[in-house]
Amino acid sequence: MEQQDWRKLAPEHFDLDNLESLKEQLALLEDEKNRLTSENHALKRKISATQDAVDRIEGYSRARDNLYDSLMAKNTKQKNFFRMLLKNTQDIIIMLDQNLHLVHCSDVFLEIAGIENIGFVSNQTLHEIFLKYAECYTVKLVLDSLEEALANHKAAVLDRSMDVGRKGNPRLYRIYVVPMLDVQGVSEGTLLLFHDLTEIMQAKEQAEQASRAKSIFLAQTSHEIRTPMNVVIGMSELALRTDSLPRALEYVEGIKQAGMNLLTIINDILDFSKIEAGTLEIKPAPYSLASLLNDVISMIRLRAAEKPIIFVTDVDPSIPNKLSGDESRIRQILLNLLTNAVKYTEKGFIRFSVKAEAAVPESGGNISLVFKVADTGIGIQEKDIPNLFTRFIRLDLKRNYGVEGTGLGLAITKSLCQAMGGDVILSSIYGEGSVFTAAIPQVYLGAEPLAMVENPGAKETLCFDSQPFRARSLIQTLQNLGAPVKRCDSAESFLRELAPEHPAPGWTGYAFAFATAEVIDRATDLVTARSLPTTLVLMTNPGENQSAHNVPTMILPVYAVTLANVLNRQITVERRKRRGRFIAPDAHVLVVDDIQTNLTVAQGLMAIFKVQIDTCASGPEAIEMVRQKAYDIVFMDHMMPGMDGIETTAAIRELGGDYRSIPIIALTANAISGMKEIFLEKGFNDYLSKPIELAKLNEIMDTWIPAQKKIQQGAEAAAARETKAAGIAAGVSVEGIDLAKGQERYRETYRDVLRSYAVHTPALLEKLEGLARSGAESLDEYIIAIHGLKGSSYGICADEAGRQAEDLEQAARNGDRGFIEANNGRCIESVRAILRGLEELLATDAGEARPRAAAPDPALLAELLEASRQYRAKPMEAIVNQLAGYEYESGGELVAWLREQLDNLEYDAIRERLER
Ligand code: ADP
Repeated sequence: MEQQDWRKLAPEHFDLDNLESLKEQLALLEDEKNRLTSENHALKRKISATQDAVDRIEGYSRARDNLYDSLMAKNTKQKNFFRMLLKNTQDIIIMLDQNLHLVHCSDVFLEIAGIENIGFVSNQTLHEIFLKYAECYTVKLVLDSLEEALANHKAAVLDRSMDVGRKGNPRLYRIYVVPMLDVQGVSEGTLLLFHDLTEIMQAKEQAEQASRAKSIFLAQTSHEIRTPMNVVIGMSELALRTDSLPRALEYVEGIKQAGMNLLTIINDILDFSKIEAGTLEIKPAPYSLASLLNDVISMIRLRAAEKPIIFVTDVDPSIPNKLSGDESRIRQILLNLLTNAVKYTEKGFIRFSVKAEAAVPESGGNISLVFKVADTGIGIQEKDIPNLFTRFIRLDLKRNYGVEGTGLGLAITKSLCQAMGGDVILSSIYGEGSVFTAAIPQVYLGAEPLAMVENPGAKETLCFDSQPFRARSLIQTLQNLGAPVKRCDSAESFLRELAPEHPAPGWTGYAFAFATAEVIDRATDLVTARSLPTTLVLMTNPGENQSAHNVPTMILPVYAVTLANVLNRQITVERRKRRGRFIAPDAHVLVVDDIQTNLTVAQGLMAIFKVQIDTCASGPEAIEMVRQKAYDIVFMDHMMPGMDGIETTAAIRELGGDYRSIPIIALTANAISGMKEIFLEKGFNDYLSKPIELAKLNEIMDTWIPAQKKIQQGAEAAAARETKAAGIAAGVSVEGIDLAKGQERYRETYRDVLRSYAVHTPALLEKLEGLARSGAESLDEYIIAIHGLKGSSYGICADEAGRQAEDLEQAARNGDRGFIEANNGRCIESVRAILRGLEELLATDAGEARPRAAAPDPALLAELLEASRQYRAKPMEAIVNQLAGYEYESGGELVAWLREQLDNLEYDAIRERLER
């Protein structure tokens, strides 16, 4: 429709007079209205469509807002995760942008590098950061890897040691260099991750070392075990082939020795397994430190004497002697440290010092014994020290080729020390030597010191040893004991000092003079010729022929306790309580064991007691035999098939009456601690571990065989022989002399000592009488003479006469002539009475003397050595009896010693001494 002019439709334009026109007008209006209405509809539709569009757009907008919000939340969360990761990771993470500037890093990096705030490094290049915070050669390596990673479009991995923070403590890192690439492969940045491998690598190294050590240990122990095993197999083969019983016995002795060696190795391994299993027990009991040290020193000096090594001790005499602790474990520790010192030292010295300190309160003791073993051996490298006490470690295998050992000793030593509340440490200079120090807390049971000298100020001592190191040790020990001491540097000065040509007025001579063999004979002559009051003491190395010189002997090293005994005039060192061997031909013994060989072994071992032995192989048989015969002792195997030893013993005890008290001794191969208690609880009287040791068997037989059935062969017989050896018939006595004490002190030289007294004293007495009568101005001469009488009287154990002379000497020194006048005659009379007694004794004694010989026959000694190597008791007995049939000018002491060792079944000691 055509666009109307709306103003024309306005009423003023209407021609009201003209109807037609009005109608037209109306029609027009009607059309217009219709048009407008339809236009209105169209507009309405448009508006509605537009509203829909607006609504849709609003919907989109809301959705977008929601999406944005949720994206933002996710982003924050991820940022938090990322922050948490960087904060807590133990790896060093560094993120770089495409220009290699730092964007992020983990906190651990800041911490290790010592960077206070990320602001200090943010935006700096990796190069700048590393130059400042890590050692520089690493930067180049990392940058090279970075380049490579970018070029190859893949991560690079490298293991490098790096000192982040430049603290002088480089650590090993596995470094991952990871490029971040966009879709086009263009670098957007780089991630560096440093993972610390140090601990893992150390653990790996340790594990590998332990495994290597175990392999070496296995090889070593196999070797150690194989050697004696070969002897066992080889000798068994020979024993089986031979028809000669004596030869077979020799082979069996060899097998026994090899068996003993094996046992030592196995004991070490057993000890070690106990430590590993945590079942090692420390059993405290009272003991004497003096005798423990004495044992240890005696054993080590024999080993040390095989090499050009000087072994000295430095034992503080004031340490309390009576202690409570596990003596056998301390012995094990000391033997191990000292044996190592000997094994790993070729020349120079070994010093064993013992001191005491206050123990730490929580250690369980009130003193701490500090043992120090210093040597001039091969030493130990610093790098090896931390691992040394670990099991199976053996060092310098090439240098130590041929030195026996398993590498267990020090591990056991350390564990034992620690189990007793102490520890052992080591300091060493490689090539120069080592010092092992073990401190072990102990409880002391009394204040009595290890060694003490009575009236030490009066024991003036002269010393000579051409070996300066040993001489120093002697002087030091004497000084520790409080004795005034003079050291001479040469043999000549020693002899001059011992007996000066022109003694100063008031000079009385030395109470003691210690010297080595090179001067002892000249010194002895001087002492005799000049009637000096000096007691000479010869210092010899173990194995040296001491008996060639007629003087008391002290075997080196000097040990405070022995030295104190010498100064206290108890010259012979305390000896082990002797158990004499006996025979008991009337005693009945039953041995129960299911293994025939064990029965044979037991029978063989018991043969020396000449007892009547029955054997059986099972519990029921044993019960039957016990019912049939009254046995004095029953040896019962523990493990037997069917009825075992414990059940059998219970059944015997149940028979009641005398059966309750038959001594039953358990035989067991289970040498575990606490076993004895278990056996005693089960009705046994004692127990004996297998392999049976002769000394232990002797002890058991001695304890349980009834006294009336025993015929002594050992102690008494030996004592009788010894008295005879001295030429003094048993039961003889001389008024005023303690013959038994003298015998103990001088053994077979005692008779010579007495004879010398008898010869020289009359002149001295005359001199004393003359001097006392003359009333000379000065008493000096009298002092010298009476001092001489005092020394020689004490010397022969005429103690009362010695005391009288001592009082007179004191009076003379005080110028008390009245006392001398009143008592000189009495003293001289007592000495004369002694001389009369001696005359009688020496006369009868001469009648009983055995044939004389210069020295023991070397051929017999060689035979004895051979027999001792093979543990052949009977031939040894026969040879020693033969040797004892003579009176020797020198070497008598050796024979007496051999007798004693034989009685104590110390075959090894005999062999060791004779071998030297
Ligand atoms: P073993 O002596 O049986 O080999 P240890 O455990 O007693 O075993 O000693 C371990 C190692 O320590 C020895 O193999 C030796 O290399 C070294 N060692 C021990 N003591 C000494 C010492 N006094 N001087 C030098 N090296 C020693």
